[in-house]
Amino acid sequence: MKPVRTRYAPSPTGFQHVGNIRAALYPWLIARQTNGVFILRIEDTDQAREVEGAVESMRETLNWLGMDWDEGPDMPGEFGPYIQSERKANYAIWAQRMADEGTAYADVRTPQQLQALRDTAKAQKKPFLAREYRPENPPKWEPGMPLRFKSTPQAYHWHDAIMGDLSAGEEAVDDFILMKADGLPTYNFAHIIDDNDMQISHVIRGIEYIASMPKYLNLYEALHFEKPIFAHAPHIMNDQGNKKLSKRDGAKSLLSYRDEGILPEAMLNFLASMGWNDGTEQEIFSREELIAKFSLERVQRSGARFDEQRLHWMNGSWIRGLDINSIYTLCQGYWPDTAKHYDEMYKKAVLGLVQERLKFLAELPELTALFFEDLPTDLNLIDANKQLKKFSHAELKVYLEHAMGSLEQSDFSVEDLTTRLNALLESTGQKPGVLFSLIRIASTQAPFSPALADTLHVLGKERSIARITNCLESL
Ligand code: GLU
Repeated sequence: MKPVRTRYAPSPTGFQHVGNIRAALYPWLIARQTNGVFILRIEDTDQAREVEGAVESMRETLNWLGMDWDEGPDMPGEFGPYIQSERKANYAIWAQRMADEGTAYADVRTPQQLQALRDTAKAQKKPFLAREYRPENPPKWEPGMPLRFKSTPQAYHWHDAIMGDLSAGEEAVDDFILMKADGLPTYNFAHIIDDNDMQISHVIRGIEYIASMPKYLNLYEALHFEKPIFAHAPHIMNDQGNKKLSKRDGAKSLLSYRDEGILPEAMLNFLASMGWNDGTEQEIFSREELIAKFSLERVQRSGARFDEQRLHWMNGSWIRGLDINSIYTLCQGYWPDTAKHYDEMYKKAVLGLVQERLKFLAELPELTALFFEDLPTDLNLIDANKQLKKFSHAELKVYLEHAMGSLEQSDFSVEDLTTRLNALLESTGQKPGVLFSLIRIASTQAPFSPALADTLHVLGKERSIARITNCLESL
C-alpha cells in the first residue's frame, strides 16, 4: 500500500471558519490514524483574492486546535516548496509538456469572444461546452498565453470515500483553462500537479469540487497520473439547516471562538462530530479517540447543521471535566475587573461553584460578578420574581429577619448552612421557591446563583450578613 499522505490546501482568502476547517480536520485525522504525513499547502494562485494576514491566521487556527503538520511552508520536506506561487517552474514544465503532446492548446481568444460563443450556445438552447468551440488554428503555446486542456470526452464511474459510487456522462467532461495569461496556473491545474508531485494519497475537500471530478479525472488520464483516493465532504449548513454556512451569512472566525473561551478539545470534538459518529451514541470524543475512531465512510452524505448551542454544550462538558487548577489557569484574562482584588484561593472557590454551569470562558464575568462586587439593594429583583411578588414587602421582611436570626448563628460551613436553610423551610412553612429566592436575592443581588448554601459559604459570613442587612433596610 502507498504510504498515506494527506493535505490541507487552503487559499489565503480570509479567516478560517467552521466550514473550511473541516477540510483540514478530516485529512489530519486520516494522516494521524495511519502514521501518515499531513501536509499544509498554500494555494495562492488567485492573487486578486488574497487577503493579507490570512496565512498567519490559518497557522494560528491550526496551532490552536493542535492540528500539526509534517510538511508545509515552514516545515520544508522533500516535496516543497509548499506555496503554489513558488512552484511556478513545476507548472510550466507540465504545461509545456501538454502543449507539446497536443493535450492542451493555446487559447488567446478574448473574454468577449468567449462570451459570444456562450451566447450562441444559449441561443441554440445548448449547454456551452468549450470543447465544441475549439479555436481553429491556435498559435503555438508560449508562457504568458492562456493554455486550455484538450479533453477526451467519456463517461466516468468512480468511487468517493464519503459520497460512495458516482458516475457522470461525457457531457461533464470539457476543455478548461490550465494556465492563465498572468503566467499562473488555475486551481484546476495546479492542485492536480501538486497532489501528484507531493504523492498525495487522499484528496479530501469540500463538496463544491465534486461536480468538476469528471474533468479532473480526464486530466489525470491525459497526464498519466495515478489517481488518489477522493473524498468530498458535504456542506456545513447554517443553524436553520436551510443554507450553506458562509462568511457572508455570519460564519465566525474560528479564532473568535478561541477568544470567547471555547476549548480546542471541544472545538475539535464539535467539528469532527458534525456529520460524523462512530455508530454509537457517544458524543464526547477526546483527540485520541477521534484519531482512533474516525472514518471517512461514516461521514454522513447530507449537509451537517452548524449548531452553536451544541458547541456550547460540548464545551461545557469539557469544562466540567477539568480539575480546578487547569480551569483556573484557563480563566486568566476572563475574570470581571472587580476580581483583581481577590486572591487565588477565593477565585478558585468561586470557580468551583460556577464550573458546572460555565459553557464558555467569556461567560465568567456574568456568572461570577456577584462574588466580587456588593451591589446596592435592587427591590425590582424581588418584585419581578414570580414567587416573591405575591407577598408584600412587609411579609417578606418578616421572613428575611427570621432567616437572618438563624444565619447569624451559623459558622457558615456548607453543612451548617444546609441544615439551617432546611430548618427555616420547616419553621416558616414556606417553599424553597419563596424562602430561598428571597435569601438568594438579598445576598447576591442576582436572580440566579449556584446552590444557595455553597454561595453563602463562599461569600462568607460577614459579607452575606451585610448584604442581607442592607436588603432588610430597604424593604
Ligand atoms: N484551495 C482550495 C480551497 O481552498 C483547495 C481545494 C482542495 O483541497 O483541493 O478550496
